[in-house]
Amino acid sequence: MGRAFLYVILGGGVAAGYAALDFSKSGISHGELCIISEEPVAPYERPALSKGYLLPEDPPRPPSFHTCVGENEERLTLKWYKEHGIELVLGTRVKSADVRRKTLLTAAGETISYKILIIATGARALKLEEFGIYGSNAENVGYLRNLADATRLVTVMRSCVGGNAVVIGGGYIGMECAASLVINKINVTMVFPEAQCMARLFTPKISSYYEDLYKSKGVRFLKGTVLSSFENDSSGKVTTVILRDGTRLPVDMVVVGIGILPNTSLFEGQLTLERGGIKVNGHMQTSDSSVYAVGDVASFPVKLFHEIRRLEHVDSARKSARHAVAAIMAPDKTGDFDYLPFFYSRVFTSSWQFYGDNAGEVVHYGDFSGKSFGAYWVNNGQLVGSFLEGGTKEEYEAIAKVTRLMPMVEDIPELERQGLGFALSVSQQPPPPPPPVKGTDSSIVLEKPLYTWHATAGIVVATSIALFTYWYRRRRRRVLV
Ligand SMILES: Cc1cc2nc3c(=O)[nH]c(=O)nc-3n(C[C@H](O)[C@H](O)[C@H](O)COP(=O)(O)OP(=O)(O)OC[C@H]3O[C@@H](n4cnc5c(N)ncnc54)[C@H](O)[C@@H]3O)c2cc1C
Repeated sequence: MGRAFLYVILGGGVAAGYAALDFSKSGISHGELCIISEEPVAPYERPALSKGYLLPEDPPRPPSFHTCVGENEERLTLKWYKEHGIELVLGTRVKSADVRRKTLLTAAGETISYKILIIATGARALKLEEFGIYGSNAENVGYLRNLADATRLVTVMRSCVGGNAVVIGGGYIGMECAASLVINKINVTMVFPEAQCMARLFTPKISSYYEDLYKSKGVRFLKGTVLSSFENDSSGKVTTVILRDGTRLPVDMVVVGIGILPNTSLFEGQLTLERGGIKVNGHMQTSDSSVYAVGDVASFPVKLFHEIRRLEHVDSARKSARHAVAAIMAPDKTGDFDYLPFFYSRVFTSSWQFYGDNAGEVVHYGDFSGKSFGAYWVNNGQLVGSFLEGGTKEEYEAIAKVTRLMPMVEDIPELERQGLGFALSVSQQPPPPPPPVKGTDSSIVLEKPLYTWHATAGIVVATSIALFTYWYRRRRRRVLV
């Protein structure tokens, strides 16, 4: 038994939804595209699962958060796929792939062949068992990666109102779940080995702000320790969490958020892997020219930082998927993916965004006891990352823009003094006209000195120099390529 399609997307998550929309916009014919997904639902905006979905009042449910509502684009329901002649093969796991023969074999025994494959298999939640701790299959222990996990968590939460929950892990999932548990009137203790929450991204000062916020909502933090084992009652429910330091925590439920693992296994030995993901070029094309990879599973060149990276965030899933479709449909008109890493989160009434890279020296600004504050990261004299809590749309756009410009920064105390004002003023400047260049010989351009930003010289000078630096870097890159 078998079917053949021109385009197949393996995986039906965020990236698949955005790719489907762009395929349809580019005018593919009915019957040309197929999406195969293990989940029984059409692609949806996964971040909704740890935010609205877990709330006790008016929680959103499908179809309200199908892709592509996250970018205010059309909401792709089952009806939409049908009307656009896109074959959705749901509730179907692909159990093997043969890249050479261009075929996928489903768990139901069907062979689906393709001319072009987009791998969008995302990632799966790491299980406690992979760290030698057993019992996470108990009915009151939950993970959160997909709609089924979220539905299960809601059921458990509803039976635990007024009770105690332990959240294992202090990353994205742990923090967002802890906030939802609190809103569901459940007492929360967070346990993680690091000295601070969100240790991979936040500075200790930023973490401390959010930990204080959570503490003000009643959350207890047990840091620098890890889960050792569970104790269960006769029905198998976990009743006590035992930590490595001997602490015993009575519980009604446990949520585990200890990281994810990209779903690469079908392609190991067939495609080149790097940084734990499937390696792609600037067209999101893998080591096999008929196969593309996007979203959490793809390791792609981040041009800004001259590095291959694998990101686990929704914006990169959406944009990498769209870029792959553009590269497939119009390869000659599509350049290399030029992505500015972007992460965000919303918990309680707080909301933050981060752009770029959290490398180098940190410059905090704003009022950490108030509602709006932030940080810049300056690496090798260049601004490479920006974080902002409590910003307006314009302010978030400004930090995104200044991060992409990557201006040189020499006077760190002045940057700290100007704070968000620096991003706002840089972002409002039009790009300066290119400075006069003697002759057309590119070597003359390369000989020009790299200007740096002296904040003390005033913001006007600073921004024009920053913009010149941006122009210069781009020009230099063009010249060198
Ligand atoms: C609860 C939660 C909250 C999040 N919140 C945020 C946030 O606030 N901000 C942010 O930037 N990011 C957030 N993320 C991350 C973001 O959702 C992911 O980066 C994004 O979903 C990745 O998209 P993807 O399409 O690559 O993978 P996914 O959306 O994970 O989709 C992968 C799909 O492939 C399917 N699949 C895998 N293997 C197979 C197979 N063998 N056969 C068939 N189907 C298969 C899976 O079932 C799944 O449907 C969150 C993630 C979660 C889980």
